Amino acid sequence: MLSFMKNIKTVIFDLDGTIWNWNELLPQAKYTIEKLKESGKEIYFMTNNTVLSREGLAAKLQKMGIRTSPERIITSGYSAAKYFKKNGVNAVYVIGEQGLLKELSLQDIRVDDDAKHVLISVDRNFNIWKLKRAFELVERGAKVYATGNYPYWRIGSNGTKIPAELPIIRALQAMTRVPVLNLGKPSEAMRDVVLKTVRSFPEDVVMVGDDIYTDVVLANRCGFRSVLVLTGVTSEEEARKAKGEYKPTEIIRRLDELVSVF
Ligand SMILES: [Mg+2]
Repeated sequence: MLSFMKNIKTVIFDLDGTIWNWNELLPQAKYTIEKLKESGKEIYFMTNNTVLSREGLAAKLQKMGIRTSPERIITSGYSAAKYFKKNGVNAVYVIGEQGLLKELSLQDIRVDDDAKHVLISVDRNFNIWKLKRAFELVERGAKVYATGNYPYWRIGSNGTKIPAELPIIRALQAMTRVPVLNLGKPSEAMRDVVLKTVRSFPEDVVMVGDDIYTDVVLANRCGFRSVLVLTGVTSEEEARKAKGEYKPTEIIRRLDELVSVF
C-alpha cells in the first residue's frame, strides 16, 4: 500500500485541510513531518492561499512548531508572479491581499489601476469599487487571471468559511462574459513552478492533499504519486469513485499513516 513511501525522496504537502485549518494544526501533522525529515525526506508545502506571502506562511508554520523556510513553500501567488514575469507582463490590477502583493513585487510586477491584466484572489476588503475597476479594465480589453477557483476558505474547526476567489470571479462574470485563467493549483503555471522548485525526479515525489480536484490532479499532471487525506474537502466516497487524473494513488484517514511503514 504505502510501502512506496520508503523510497520517496520528496513529500509536498497541501496546507489547508491537510496540515492545518489555518489557525489550528491538524492532528499528527507535526509528528508526521518530523518523522519524514528524520527519514531523510525533503519537505515542501503548496497552497492556493495568497493572504500571506511565502515568507509569511513559513513564519506561520515555524510559529506552530513546523520548521521550514520560504524556499520550501509554493503558493499560487508565487505561481502567478512567475507566470507574469515569464510572459513579459509587468503591470497588473490586483484584487487581493498583502501576501499576493508581496509576491508580485518580488518578481518586479507593478500594481497598476490602468493595467491590461487583472488578477483576482482572496480579498477580505473586496468591494463594489474594486469590481467596477476590474470591469472597466475588461471592457478596455484586459485579460483576467485568478490564483484559484475555490468557493470559500475554511478557518478553524468551528466551521467558519470566508469567500475565496470564485465569488469574486462570478461577480465580475455577472457583468461581462470574460474568461478567467487559473494560475493556482492545478494549473499549468502552478505545475511549472512545482517542477522547478522540487529537485527530485517525478517518480521520487509524493503530493499529499485533501482535494482530488486540485492536489491529486496537479500531482498526476506532474507525474508524482498522490495521497489523499480525508481531513478536508474530499469525502471518502468521492475519492473511491474518482477516475483518471482525479484518482489518488492512496487514500488515508490520518496523516501519520504516511510514516507507519518506516
Ligand atoms: Mg487543501
